[in-house]
Amino acid sequence: MKILIAASEAFPFCKTGGLGDVVGALSQMFSRLGDHEVALFLPKYRNIERGAFSLRAISGNFLIPVADKLETVSMSHVQWGKVSVYFIENSKFFDRPGMYRTQYGDYKDNDERFMFFSRAVLEGAKFIGFKPDIIHCHDWQTALVPAYLKTLYQIDSFFVKTASVFTINNIAYQGMFAKKAFLKAGFDWNDFTPDKFEYYGGINFMKAGIIFSDMITTVSPTYSKEIQSYGEFGKGLEGVLKHRSKKLSGILNGIDDEIWDPVSDMFIKRGYDAKTFAKGKAYCKRDLLKECAIEENKELLLAGVVSRLDNQKGLDILCKVMPHLTDKMQFVILGAGDEKISNALKKLAKIYPKRVFFKSGFDEALAHKIYAASDIFIMPSRFEPCGLSQMIAMLYGSLPVATKTGGLKDTVFYTGEPKDSNGFLIDAANEKSLRSALGKAVSFFKRKLLWNTMIKNAMNGDYSWDKSAEEYLKIFKSIQKDS
Ligand code: ADP
Repeated sequence: MKILIAASEAFPFCKTGGLGDVVGALSQMFSRLGDHEVALFLPKYRNIERGAFSLRAISGNFLIPVADKLETVSMSHVQWGKVSVYFIENSKFFDRPGMYRTQYGDYKDNDERFMFFSRAVLEGAKFIGFKPDIIHCHDWQTALVPAYLKTLYQIDSFFVKTASVFTINNIAYQGMFAKKAFLKAGFDWNDFTPDKFEYYGGINFMKAGIIFSDMITTVSPTYSKEIQSYGEFGKGLEGVLKHRSKKLSGILNGIDDEIWDPVSDMFIKRGYDAKTFAKGKAYCKRDLLKECAIEENKELLLAGVVSRLDNQKGLDILCKVMPHLTDKMQFVILGAGDEKISNALKKLAKIYPKRVFFKSGFDEALAHKIYAASDIFIMPSRFEPCGLSQMIAMLYGSLPVATKTGGLKDTVFYTGEPKDSNGFLIDAANEKSLRSALGKAVSFFKRKLLWNTMIKNAMNGDYSWDKSAEEYLKIFKSIQKDS
């Protein structure tokens, strides 16, 4: 199969969160499983990590209409293992300090930037002569690709064999814009109807992706149900999803074992596996506590957090609970985002300097150290499509304390019996439930044998991409067109 992946981020080139990890890992998996040709299309942001890669410019360029202007596209290419990565270049749209936003908010022309990118993906495929069997799109930024395929490009013979899959990594970000964005994208006015593009008088890119793609996936089985059944989860799209529910499935994400492996991780002081974790983790813990300059005390449970600071993640709830637990626990928290949450965490670190460490910002090295050193990993998320952090934590023997929602519910198990558990579940994202779950963790921590059983369960889990990537390929095959 020829698989084209269109996304707004992919690790190791550009990443703001889990989406980048997912797209990067899936591209590699598809290219390794069977005889597939994989082309990954990304915007060429100013801060693309070139690292060891040298991008080769492709000669020539082409034009994409956006609103009443023609925008020029040039492309560059880099070979990344068996994946061909193509960058869509346009300095007006992508040569900026951020990928989606400044510190004050989203770029005002994000509608134009990503309708441009979506259409440039299709024209770019023609430009390089890559005739895809499947186009796999992710989130609102590329949700117009299936819509273009089924409207403006329906009569284009180049795409006569092309089917599309749209993956919802997080339904909280939908790409909603005023009506004029619809016209800027070049669609036919007759399609501005509630069963197609129209959404409360404007356009919703994600809705278009759901309606026009041949298959829809999301990143965990539980989330695929949640987003159809509850308004607070579906964020207004539950009706559209219900309507297309036969085409929707949930496939759990995996984690990249080349990046995340406690045995060979270069960022941590000492590697360990499911047999040697006691010594290894103790070593890593001492190292991290020293680095963070907080008290070394074996009796205290060390809780780690590595997270975006966003309402979704429920860290405001954790901030309220922390003062009640500083006699039993220590906290090492790394996070970037919301200023209010960041300030609350800074304040706590100041009040409890021996017990609380907070670093604001994105720090790959520190993230690895936190996963390795911590005893528990806290995720009081209000919703969580899949969540990668809890799986990374488990692989590193840090037991997640996570809300019973979305992918957390599909990966963290707590039965009350340590032999069948790999973490602790928070019944609902509120203070009472979080305190109760943390209380359980504190009492189990004292019973070393049981605790170690849970760590072994967590570390021995299968968090690889193998099974999930196969499931995607199965879906791709099921919609592959023959002619
Ligand atoms: P989301 O995609 O909602 O942000 P996930 O749990 O799916 O959450 O993925 C988060 C990923 O980003 C993990 O790999 C996590 O380690 C990483 N991450 C989040 N915040 C930071 C940070 N401040 N510094 C380093 N890595 C981070």
